[in-house]
Amino acid sequence: APVIVWLRQDLRLADNPALTHAAQSGRPVVALYILDDQTPGPWALGGASRWWLHHSLSALGDALAALGCPLVLRRGRADVALRALARETGATAVVWNRCYEPHAIARDSALKADLKDEGISVDSFNAALLAEPWTVKTGSGGPYKVFTPFWRAVREGLDPGPPLPAPRKLFALPTPPDGDRLADWGLLPSRPDWAGGLRDAWTPGEAAAQRRLADFLAQAVRRYPEGRDYPARPLTSRLSPHLHFGEISPRQIWAAVDHDGDGVAEFLRELGWREFCHHLLYHFPDLPQRPLNPRFEAFAWGDDPAALAAWQRGRTGYPIVDAGMRELWATGWMHNRVRMVVGSFLVKHLLLPWTAGQAWFWDTLVDADLANNAGGWQWIAGCGADAAPYFRVFNPVLQGQKFDSGGDYVRRWVPELAGLPDSVLHQPWTADPLTLRAAGVRLGTDYPHPVVDHKAARQRALDTFGAIKGDN
Ligand code: FAD
Repeated sequence: APVIVWLRQDLRLADNPALTHAAQSGRPVVALYILDDQTPGPWALGGASRWWLHHSLSALGDALAALGCPLVLRRGRADVALRALARETGATAVVWNRCYEPHAIARDSALKADLKDEGISVDSFNAALLAEPWTVKTGSGGPYKVFTPFWRAVREGLDPGPPLPAPRKLFALPTPPDGDRLADWGLLPSRPDWAGGLRDAWTPGEAAAQRRLADFLAQAVRRYPEGRDYPARPLTSRLSPHLHFGEISPRQIWAAVDHDGDGVAEFLRELGWREFCHHLLYHFPDLPQRPLNPRFEAFAWGDDPAALAAWQRGRTGYPIVDAGMRELWATGWMHNRVRMVVGSFLVKHLLLPWTAGQAWFWDTLVDADLANNAGGWQWIAGCGADAAPYFRVFNPVLQGQKFDSGGDYVRRWVPELAGLPDSVLHQPWTADPLTLRAAGVRLGTDYPHPVVDHKAARQRALDTFGAIKGDN
């Protein structure tokens, strides 16, 4: 009887414990992916993620086919689809690698019980984290809410072991089960095709993920500690979508780095933030909906659709904010420094709820990840674990001047301002008419006036945040 390998966020052959387990069982292997837009509720895949998924499944399907095992594609509620396939194939075993989203945990534990009742064995594995959330506890036995001691505890004695090699061969059923054609899933945008910038920026899939890691380790990692804050410089790894879809595992990264090398500890620390966000989501499953700090339940968020639209479209009148939002729209990714700046701008300058930013990121990021996205937004809003304090309001002009002093980032993404001199590039409204004319910029026509005044917005944010501050 065959064993079903249910692939989810582990779209790779190497270091894939569920796949290795199935391959070693000596039984025929059925490799399955299910597109399930129902179980996740509001967290069904967004547009940019669907684009990525299409290409990732295409790469995985080719790699599996080369081992003699087709990837079976099914669509619908995952628990229903999986049980149907088990019946059709007579499978007596199912294996998968664990997911940590609350809806996935609920689904998987119910499914495990149901399958066992039907006499089908289930084995699940860790393929996505260095330390699973329940294995890391504070001295008093609870979850961590502060990053530094969390990461210290994870690192202490951590030995993820060597990554597993990809299976050399898989035995498939003589007649593979029916499946959908990937092209029929409509994961790619058509009218309009907005994915040109994504195609230019990315190559999804396991092989491309390994190449990206190798390039990063060969060149950029040494300069990562000081370079990671400058959005015009390609000094971060850009592994986030590959990690989200499981095209590469943290264990593979851990094994590939030179632990004594320059920049490596700082880079691994960011992987630590990924672990921390997953730890938080597991222990606080409301993380995407509710502020971790309950005081923020009473926060008087505004409701301003025009301001939200200006932010989404990169037309706030603050060049660094607009550059980031346009980079996001064009490429499905935004540099971390700029994510913080645009996030702070949304929640503090515009007083719009962090959940609105989270939802836009969910739809537009190729690395949209429930844990990292919710963790990032709660952090920037000041309501999360180990969060930025509410009174820290990023000044978008100073952030631009500091982290994009040469203006390369803004000139690339906000080309209508490219002719402005550096001295006014991050605050075009301060330029005199002659400078604007020489640069060919008509404020209010080519590029908007600021949607809010920084000083007034900052004060409004401090007042509103102050109202819920209470005694501590
Ligand atoms: P590198 O600097 O090379 O870091 C290596 C890896 O570590 C990343 O690929 C990522 O997996 C992880 N990582 C780095 N920084 C963080 C962080 N602050 N929190 C969690 N993990 C981190 N990251 C996502 O993967 N998905 C999201 O949906 C997401 N939403 C975010 C929302 C906001 C408001 C903010 C402030 C940050 C968000 N991040 C998110 C975290 C971070 O911005 C990205 O992981 C990072 O920019 C990815 O680029 P990189 O791969 O070059 O990172």
